[in-house]
Amino acid sequence: MTLDEAADLGAAHELATLVIRAGRLRDEGFGRLLTYSPKVFIPLTKLCRDVCHYCTFAKTPKQVDAPYLEIDEVLAIARRGRDTGCREALFTLGEKPELRYQAARNWLAKHGYASTVDYLVEAAGAVLRETGLIPHINAGTLSRNELRRLRRVSASMGIMVESGSSRLLEKGAAHHGSPDKRPWRRLATLVRAGQLRIPMTTGLLVGIGETREERLQDLLHIRRLQDRYGHIQEVIIQNFRAKADTRMAQSPEPSREELCWTIAMARLILGRDMSIQAPPNLSPGAVEPLVAAGINDWGGISPVTPDHVNPEAPWPEITELRHQCAAAGKRLSARLTIYPRYLKAYENWLEPGPRGACLAASDADGLLRDSSWYPGLRGAGEVPAVDRFPVDGELRAIVDRCRAGATPSTREIEMLFGARGSDFHAVCRAADELRSEQVGEAVSFVVNRNINYTNVCQYACSFCAFSKGRVEEQQGRERPYDIDGSELARRALEAWECGATEVCLQGGIHPAYTGETYLSVLRTLRETVPELHIHAFSPLEVTHGAQTLGLSLRDYLQRLREAGLATLPGTAAEILVDRVRAKICPDKLSTKEWLEVMAIAHDLGLRTTATMMFGHVDEARDWAEHLLKLRQLQEQTGGFTEFVPLPFVAQGAPMARRGESRFGPTLREAILVHAVARLVLGHSFTNIQTSWVKMGRERAMDCLNAGANDLGGTLLNESITRAAGAAHGQVWDARDMRDAILGQGRQPRMRRTDYRDADPDTVQRAFAWDGVIAESLNLPAGRSARSKLSH
Ligand code: SF4
Repeated sequence: MTLDEAADLGAAHELATLVIRAGRLRDEGFGRLLTYSPKVFIPLTKLCRDVCHYCTFAKTPKQVDAPYLEIDEVLAIARRGRDTGCREALFTLGEKPELRYQAARNWLAKHGYASTVDYLVEAAGAVLRETGLIPHINAGTLSRNELRRLRRVSASMGIMVESGSSRLLEKGAAHHGSPDKRPWRRLATLVRAGQLRIPMTTGLLVGIGETREERLQDLLHIRRLQDRYGHIQEVIIQNFRAKADTRMAQSPEPSREELCWTIAMARLILGRDMSIQAPPNLSPGAVEPLVAAGINDWGGISPVTPDHVNPEAPWPEITELRHQCAAAGKRLSARLTIYPRYLKAYENWLEPGPRGACLAASDADGLLRDSSWYPGLRGAGEVPAVDRFPVDGELRAIVDRCRAGATPSTREIEMLFGARGSDFHAVCRAADELRSEQVGEAVSFVVNRNINYTNVCQYACSFCAFSKGRVEEQQGRERPYDIDGSELARRALEAWECGATEVCLQGGIHPAYTGETYLSVLRTLRETVPELHIHAFSPLEVTHGAQTLGLSLRDYLQRLREAGLATLPGTAAEILVDRVRAKICPDKLSTKEWLEVMAIAHDLGLRTTATMMFGHVDEARDWAEHLLKLRQLQEQTGGFTEFVPLPFVAQGAPMARRGESRFGPTLREAILVHAVARLVLGHSFTNIQTSWVKMGRERAMDCLNAGANDLGGTLLNESITRAAGAAHGQVWDARDMRDAILGQGRQPRMRRTDYRDADPDTVQRAFAWDGVIAESLNLPAGRSARSKLSH
């Protein structure tokens, strides 16, 4: 759009028409979503070398107790914010006060800093390091080097254009005497930030003496910057408020219509994907008109600190704002200081320090996590509340088609995964009803024992806290072990005596293991307890075994079957999307190879489970693709017994420790994966399992009300999830599990691995077990593999 075209557009239409067009455009980009960032405001210094005539933030040295906040004061503010759910630390400060005030120079020299920015780097770094709050920095005009240093300790920065009009620098105008308000300086900072790939906030201050045409000119400048660098993540359209004790105290404030006209024009010029923001505290009572004009964001709102730039204007109360947004047709959600599309491309936009903090705080949509629940950890968390919205019509239609057995598209499944508020509850309810229709009210479980025969692994999956391969990552972890055949036999016998019907065997890929190793495992188990069902070897182990013996997958699977293998676990699937696998398990088998092993196993009559480990670097689109691939194979072979969602447990995982992944799905996402799995897979899979080790016992019950019908195994000796930091015990005994299911008003059913009922003898043995097992003997691992034969 040229300036003439923008001016013509703005002049040719009534405000009401512009608002309708802008609102539609916003809805195309953001739908029902309206965001804000819970923040604390940290005014590192109120001294400023500029003298903008509308400002009450800037003070002289005589008006402040100290030129700068001390680091302890900064951290105290940040900690207060953290304790009330904030994630953004907004550093707003005066510009280069040391160039104007001796007091600033003295303070910096005394504390060992060369400049305000030098101190700001230290303060923001301390907040990031010690509180986990993520700095957003408003420090005015900055050099390339200053921006580069600040990028290491912040996720985003901001500099308002305010107005590009040079007239405002003239005597008597708003920016007279303020050298940093020269438009070219501010635009130059934005250009440098673009070159350095820093997500930026900018915007206009409406009503400080500029004309409409000048505002349009500024918006077009911002648009050009965005087209060139793609780094403008939001544009604030802020209305001037006249403050007492300023030279502009008597200047007229812009009307509501003028503000809405500017918001609408900003939306029409900057497009559907640009975040347009208006501060809610500067326009009390105007939620509906501002939303209608095209905003999608309210900016930072603080539960603990005032708006130091507009101290006379209190922040709105979030619950009330949420209600007002709902009345305007929008669902209010909390976001991080960095917007989702920048966080999703974090390799380009974030340094390692802020990156880890942002990912840890983020959900799969790139918004702020909405509950305190984490997979594998104790702590109940909160299931999302129902809100006042009617269920989305398109979502309801997708749910209905799924219930009727239709195959949804990737985009439709993504939409199900995006459900929040009432939509979330509608998806869960539909999944629960479908579960009831498909499998009734029984909740099944199997009494089993996990045997993880070695934790030595030649692979380096970045999510895996279990494997021991690289010395540098072993500190504080369990030592490398490799159990021998007699221990294998002992554990199998003990499992049988405890009432187990199944042993589940998986381990790392010890470099000395061959296909014969896995065959010896089977022989030992078969000889020790012929009645035990052997559920063993992921597609990775099968592939490794076949390769080391030079056999085809089919021939090797056939040999495993003859040696006693009954079914295979569908682990090593992680996410069946190669662009995700390239990040989390680059050296492991590909999506195609995983599916191939499963297809051959099914063809040979070996049934398998299917899993999905989610909540790390993946997105809802990847989950959708994963489900569709499983469904397609199941429709061809019918060989999967169940689908098991595995929420990523981050605590001990290398990629989470390195700040390269999220910290697992949120509770909403974890429950939704079960519900969406029922809707998408239920017709072909029948059984959807919930993993109590990852979900926790209480939250696993929520999944039973959202499409799941199976609680998996009682899991004597579970150790893979515990190695990743999970706190949920290593066994949930059959009596307690039965009682928990009864407590949900459902019918417990002890099953075998293939979902037939367990026989009465086994049930009796399982319920009679006194909960005591001998200590496991994990023998130290060596270069060669220990024999897996028991004699
Ligand atoms: Fe090895 Fe499996 Fe861990 Fe990957 S996930 S490192 S293959 S044990």
